[in-house]
Amino acid sequence: MGGNELEYIHNAFDSNWISQYGSNIDEFEKNLENYLGNNSFVTALSSGTAAIHLALRLLNVEECDFVICQSFTFVASANPILYLKAVPVFVDSESQTWNLCPNALEDAIKYCIQQGKKPKAIIAVSLYGMPFMAEEILQISKKYEIPIVEDSAEALGSQYKGQPCGTFGDLSVISFNGNKIITTGGGGILISRNPHFKSRAFILATQAKDKAEFYSHSELGYNYRMDNIAAGIGRGQMETLDEKIKQKRKNHDFYQELVKNSENIELFSAPNNDFFSNYWLNTVILKNELSKEKLREIFTQNDIETRYLWKPMHLQPLYKKCKFFGNNLSGTLFDTGLCLPSGTNLTNDYISRISEVLENEIH
Ligand SMILES: *Cc1c(COP(=O)(O)O)cnc(C)c1O
Repeated sequence: MGGNELEYIHNAFDSNWISQYGSNIDEFEKNLENYLGNNSFVTALSSGTAAIHLALRLLNVEECDFVICQSFTFVASANPILYLKAVPVFVDSESQTWNLCPNALEDAIKYCIQQGKKPKAIIAVSLYGMPFMAEEILQISKKYEIPIVEDSAEALGSQYKGQPCGTFGDLSVISFNGNKIITTGGGGILISRNPHFKSRAFILATQAKDKAEFYSHSELGYNYRMDNIAAGIGRGQMETLDEKIKQKRKNHDFYQELVKNSENIELFSAPNNDFFSNYWLNTVILKNELSKEKLREIFTQNDIETRYLWKPMHLQPLYKKCKFFGNNLSGTLFDTGLCLPSGTNLTNDYISRISEVLENEIH
């Protein structure tokens, strides 16, 4: 926390709107619509996962439909496919952005069409804040007329060619879970350029009540709306976003400087200036003798927390029966990668201890 979060929470108390209605929700949605630009319509929800679930509902994904999903991601990208009893088809990453590989994506689409069913959606992720290859992926989406669900849960503030992540999909998703660049505790948004999607998302997120004087329900809805307290936190957090992005990118520069001459470690960085990452997490790939387990253990001994990379979905027990297209680059990234401390509040002491460990181990 850092901005005026408490003040906005007080507004909610003063107005007595402790519910899924209230001015914080309306204002938070407006803040985000302004921030994202590009005629975005935003619906505030209880989580990013809920937003992905609703995105698939709005695209009429039904039982037994194919949905293509990036394999290298957090499990929340894929689970809503199973909520709808649809069939996930996983696609590998390319080496530039670690996101959807256009060639493998096209192979997956052709496979589904051969099976007699064009996929209903493509879930494209901006992992660790790095935008996916938007031009190539959108071109494939257009060629086969398959909509994109953009999972930019981790990528608020990132851009591709100056356009913000969260505005590339037919439907896009950003998360405000506690671990993301800004947070509402739990929360997320669904974004589109279609006002019809916004009103439908609201209806589905509030139990899908019919327009009637009594409680009448013709279709299946959910309790997925963001509440007015969480949205108050979000309003305060939005005021800190630019500063947080600066700090995240400073962390990246710090790591870049540390490892630039190492042969054992490579920092994952934007392939060129078209890609502007919020560097939500800094990740490294280890080479030669240095294993992720060993480096992690040395960090742990020095009381520094690191994490492994996301384990790809095609390697997860939950998804092991699903089709996968690609050369398993994502599996190699998982085997050799490590996430380094990337908080916006790293202390000088913590930073110098990180430097010490890295300088000892990587040269
Ligand atoms: C966090 C995250 C989600 C889910 O968002 P929640 O708000 O935690 O439900 C989805 N996809 C990715 C890639 C994420 O990192």
